Amino acid sequence: MECCFRAWYAACVRIDAGCAPYRYDPRLTARIFQLMRFDLHCHSTRSDGLLAPAEVVRRAAARGVDVLALTDHDETAGLDEARAAAEEAGIALVAGAELSVSWEDITIHVVALHFDPAHGGLQDGLDQIRSGRDSRARRIADSLAAAGIDGAYEGARRYVTSERLISRTHFARFLVEAGHAHEMKDVFSRYLTPGRPGYVAHAWAGVEDAIGWIHEAGGQAVLAHPGRYKVTPTGLRRLLGEFRDRGGDAIEVLSPSHQAAQVAQFASLARVYGLAASTGSDYHGPGESWLDLGDLPPLPAWLDPVWKRW
Ligand code: AMP
Ligand code: MN
Ligand code: MN
Ligand code: MN
Repeated sequence: MECCFRAWYAACVRIDAGCAPYRYDPRLTARIFQLMRFDLHCHSTRSDGLLAPAEVVRRAAARGVDVLALTDHDETAGLDEARAAAEEAGIALVAGAELSVSWEDITIHVVALHFDPAHGGLQDGLDQIRSGRDSRARRIADSLAAAGIDGAYEGARRYVTSERLISRTHFARFLVEAGHAHEMKDVFSRYLTPGRPGYVAHAWAGVEDAIGWIHEAGGQAVLAHPGRYKVTPTGLRRLLGEFRDRGGDAIEVLSPSHQAAQVAQFASLARVYGLAASTGSDYHGPGESWLDLGDLPPLPAWLDPVWKRW
C-alpha cells in the first residue's frame, strides 16, 4: 500500500506546488484516495477462484486497479505469490481473507483486510474453519446422493485447486458438468442453498472469535455483501448492531450482490451504525462472475472508507 500511495502522493504534490517538499495533508490524501481504484474482495485458485493468485493480480492491474485485496475463503496461502506479482505490476496488494462465520442460524462472510498474515492466532483460526470443510463436503455429497446424484464428492474434488479448500462452488461446477443445471446460478438455487438437496447446516467460526483473530493480527473486519443474507429487516438491524458491538469495522457497500437500491441502503446504514465502507468485485474468474476486477464505481465520497485507517 505505502509504496503506491507515496508515489501518487509525491506526484500530486509536485503537480500542485512545483516540487514542494513532502508535507502530509489529510485533505489531499482523501482526494488521492478518491482517484484511486480499490477492489478489496476477490478469489484465486487458493480457494474457489479460477485464476492463480498472480493471474488475478495481473488482470487487476491491466484493468486499472490501484489497490487490490486477494480475499480467498478461510485462506491466506495465495498472498505471497500475489504480493510478488503486485510488485512487478506496480499495484498495491493488501492482505485479505474471507472468513466463514455462523451468526444465529445463517452463514455470514467477514472479509479481513490489511492484517499480518504471519500472525499465529489468525492462522490457527483459519485452520480451524478450514478443518471442517472436508466433512461438510462429505455430508453435502450424502445429501445429493439421497436426491439421486451419485459421486458428487469425487466429482467436486476434481475441481478443487487447493487441497485444503473444498467449497460449494466446486460442487456447483461438478453439477453443471454432470448436466444437473445449466449454469452456476441455477445450481445454487436448485441444489446448494438452504432447504434444497445438497445443502447441509454447518457450524463455522463465531462472530466474536472471527473479529478477535482479525484484530489481533492488526486488520479490519468487514461484513461482506450484507444484502445477500436471508434475514428480516429486524434481523438485519440485529446483525449490523451485533457486528458493530463486537468490534466490526466496516461493511461492504459496493458489491455485485447489491442492487442500486441496496447500495444506497447500505451506504446509509454504514453511517447510522458508525461503520466504515468497503468495496469489492468478489471476482471468481472468467465466465463465473457478474463483474470483472475493478468494475465497480467509486465509493460515494461522503462515506468513511475502510482504507482511511491504513
Ligand atoms: P462455501 O464457502 O463452501 O459455502 O461456498 C460459498 C461460495 O459459493 C461463495 O463464495 C460463492 O463463490 C458461491 N456461491 C454461493 N451462492 C452462490 C450463487 N447463488 N451463485 C453463484 N455462486 C454462489
Ligand atoms: Mn466463493
Ligand atoms: Mn462471500
Ligand atoms: Mn467472496
